[in-house]
Amino acid sequence: MAKDYYGILGVSREATDDEIKRAYRKLARQYHPDVNPDPEAHDKFKEINAAYEVLSDDQKRQIVDLGGDPLAPGGGMPGGAGGAGPFVGFQDIMDAFFGTAAGGGSRGPRPRTRPGADAILRLELDLVETAFGVEAPITVDTAVLCTQCSGAGTAPGTHLSTCEVCSGRGEVQSVQRTFLGQVVSSRPCQNCQGHGTVIPSPCPTCAGDGRIRTRRSLTVKIPAGVEDGMRIRLAQQGEVGPGGGTAGDLYVEIHERPHDVYSRKGDDLHCRVTLPMTAAALGTRMTIKTLDGEENIEVKPGTQPASTLRIRGKGVPHLRGQGRGELFVHLDVKTPTKLTADQERMLREFAKTRGEDVAELSKQGGFFSRMRDAFNGH
Ligand SMILES: [Zn+2]
Ligand SMILES: [Zn+2]
Repeated sequence: MAKDYYGILGVSREATDDEIKRAYRKLARQYHPDVNPDPEAHDKFKEINAAYEVLSDDQKRQIVDLGGDPLAPGGGMPGGAGGAGPFVGFQDIMDAFFGTAAGGGSRGPRPRTRPGADAILRLELDLVETAFGVEAPITVDTAVLCTQCSGAGTAPGTHLSTCEVCSGRGEVQSVQRTFLGQVVSSRPCQNCQGHGTVIPSPCPTCAGDGRIRTRRSLTVKIPAGVEDGMRIRLAQQGEVGPGGGTAGDLYVEIHERPHDVYSRKGDDLHCRVTLPMTAAALGTRMTIKTLDGEENIEVKPGTQPASTLRIRGKGVPHLRGQGRGELFVHLDVKTPTKLTADQERMLREFAKTRGEDVAELSKQGGFFSRMRDAFNGH
């Protein structure tokens, strides 16, 4: 649905250019943001401008008269044809009215010295390093203070001078004539980029930036118990700002390399050990490697599949406070798959001694008799 631009200005479809102009001026005075601070008036004002933009242009007015909307995305002719193209004028009017508010930025010269940006660096560590902490050497590409000019950006023996274009104000004003009278707008001075000062002879080392790019090496102390994804902040180890401004912070992001044996959940460690059925039945001992060295563990006789052994205090040290996580050893009991004729005979013998009818398990008591009873209504 195309907008009713005639209705917005309150004129008939046969209105002359003069009538349209008069209607626009009347409404613009009424809704101009300087006169009418109501936020709704602001929207109305935009609408009025858009309507005038359209109806004061013969080509766009024709599109409206044909039922289209020249300001709609894609041209706005009914049926999708058209392509009125980007309209000129409207944004200029808005800029003139709203001045620096629309363009952004505050009044007055911009300081040459500004704070530096933060930086982030990725650091890959092994499980042992994240668990117990490490002093890791890192290199970082960054900006440091230019020592030749100490951040001033001027060549030795020279100074900043006041910008001649803006007389040090950092902004230039232009006056535009509109239907509402004279409108003054301010823009940052192009000559000094808004600083109000210029550097007549830039420092040869930093070309006036006050800082130079370099590669720095430093050592970062990683505390025990850090986790994958954590960031360690090194205050003011980031980039020095333009004009030698305060350095930003450097964040070191921890990435823990996957371990061959252990997986980590919080401060607990988990691993899987496979043991043969006979060892699970008879019990066994084994030695596993933990973060602290070798650990002898005992598997009790009659250990069931999917059992877990918990080894207290052999996980990752807690980052804050005392103590450590646990180490869990998940036991997978392996059933033999290929039996020799001899082994099979012995296993059948073994089953017989236990009264286990392996040929027809459901003849046994226990679970199967309970199952029968459940269906027989006992
Ligand atoms: Zn200037
Ligand atoms: Zn310099």
